[in-house]
Amino acid sequence: MSGMRLTFAEIYIKNFEANVRAIKKFVKPGVKICCSVKADAYGHGAVTCAKAAVKCGADFLAVATVGEGIELREAKIKAPILLLSYCSPSEMADLVKFNITPFVGDEEYIGFIERAVQKAFKARNAANAKLTKNAAAKKFAVHLAVDSGMGRVGCLPCDAAALAKRISSSKYLTLGGMCTHFASADGTAARDRSYAKKQRDAFVAAVESVKACGIKPGIVHASASAALMDKVEWQFDMVRPGIILYGYYPDKITAKYLRAKKTPLELKPVMALVTGISALRPFAKGMSVSYGSTWTASKNTTIGVLPIGYADGLLRRQAGTLKVSVGGKLYPIRGRICMDQCMVDLGSAKGIKRFDRAVIFGPKESGALLTADDLAADAGTISYEILTCVGKRVERVYVK
Ligand SMILES: *Cc1c(COP(=O)(O)O)cnc(C)c1O
Repeated sequence: MSGMRLTFAEIYIKNFEANVRAIKKFVKPGVKICCSVKADAYGHGAVTCAKAAVKCGADFLAVATVGEGIELREAKIKAPILLLSYCSPSEMADLVKFNITPFVGDEEYIGFIERAVQKAFKARNAANAKLTKNAAAKKFAVHLAVDSGMGRVGCLPCDAAALAKRISSSKYLTLGGMCTHFASADGTAARDRSYAKKQRDAFVAAVESVKACGIKPGIVHASASAALMDKVEWQFDMVRPGIILYGYYPDKITAKYLRAKKTPLELKPVMALVTGISALRPFAKGMSVSYGSTWTASKNTTIGVLPIGYADGLLRRQAGTLKVSVGGKLYPIRGRICMDQCMVDLGSAKGIKRFDRAVIFGPKESGALLTADDLAADAGTISYEILTCVGKRVERVYVK
């Protein structure tokens, strides 16, 4: 193994496990949990997080791409996997091969999936005549997505019954579940609430229309992090937490809001983005820093060079506002953030040594004084983006 950079991400897997357990305790008894580990588990490492989630009682995992699903299967993860986005025709054979369950929402896409399943089953049968009976008997599950107002994946509620019939009359497919996704469950304004309620009602009507045809809807699920916490009565058969697994609350559905509602759910941030001081540079008044020389020392100071830049997940637009924690104190980043480095103003740098640890964000135990939410608020984005922007070259180190 090669040595380690000063820049890495610590993953406090115990915090992740505590979050999964807290969510499991929070949901109504019998409600299944589908843990979203898409985008490399929001930057935390999909395989490690998926394994930890299953260990702590996750029933399903969710991914956004077929490749993400294959990664889990190749790591010997056996849990059912949902594919939340539509895939390309060239990926469909792998859906079947790796037993990844797609969301479907229109006749054409169902047809594509059906042909892929038919082809895979035929190939399987040809390869092993003995398996013919089993292979033919086992249908491939799909979940019928209902677009109740997100405008993304799924059928209109009025088309759900016809599509459910189409699926359940197929020789190759079976209806494993029905689902929807809320567009504004993370808001508390009257407009957000009424929109979410409208979506919920449209979804329930779609599920009822399927049942009215004598078709079992399978596992009914709708709520991601925000709705599962705020709308306990909308948990249905399964919930699909994502961001809360990683210790962050979605927008207005915060720890404080939930405590006030007397339905507390306490979460712990999982990732710390860590770097170190690669050099300490005495700076005389008048010296400037980084591209464009946008910052000039107005008095003598000490500049620390940090080997972390926007290719590692800092946002270039945070130059001027970003602060870094060193030895339990926050110091400001000066000048533009480069691709691979940035500079921090350490003042007198009293008690600070070369190679000392500097923490961008993370849980308190990492030495961080900021969270991904603080960075997000500063950058006008959400914790999701801060976490998933942490670069591929940033090694993930799992802290026991
Ligand atoms: C990403 C995603 C989730 C998880 O969302 P969070 O807000 O992170 O909880 C659930 N369902 C679908 C369809 C998604 O795309």
